[in-house]
Amino acid sequence: MKALVIGCGRVGSTIALNLHNEGWEVTVVDENEDALSRLGESWRGAFVVGHGMDTDLLREAGIEDADAVVAAEAPAHSPDEAWIETARCPSCNECQLINDRMFTYDERKQAYIKDITAGTYRQLVEAAESCQVAIIHPGKPRDPNEPGLAELLERAAPFR
Ligand code: SF4
Repeated sequence: MKALVIGCGRVGSTIALNLHNEGWEVTVVDENEDALSRLGESWRGAFVVGHGMDTDLLREAGIEDADAVVAAEAPAHSPDEAWIETARCPSCNECQLINDRMFTYDERKQAYIKDITAGTYRQLVEAAESCQVAIIHPGKPRDPNEPGLAELLERAAPFR
């Protein structure tokens, strides 16, 4: 039996793991690649990175052959967290020109934050301002001693 679980937050990952343990062939869809870690290192099901409302992606993920489809919650993003709406990225490359260790592309050539520690809050804010579709959310600064934070927080406000 095949199951498609859309959303790999707390609820989605629990459902996916339970189905998997019961012998289902499970595919999980989530726009945040990091959500895969919720399934644990021993996860042997499939995981597809993308938006749960993207019908082409759901077809690719096997929705037409699935015996069960579970629409669980999408992962919640706090305004304090830095993240990218990866599924909406048209691959303009601007963020990677700013810091290609912090920003990178996934297998669909859409950007995500690979390593938040590889750059500064200033670079996150600059990337948010450069992004032509305004999908980079800088969140809150990690380093309270980074220079110019007051100004950067003001610039970041429209993207939180
Ligand atoms: S700047 Fe925005 S649109 Fe361009 S690659 Fe980065 S996230 Fe994608």
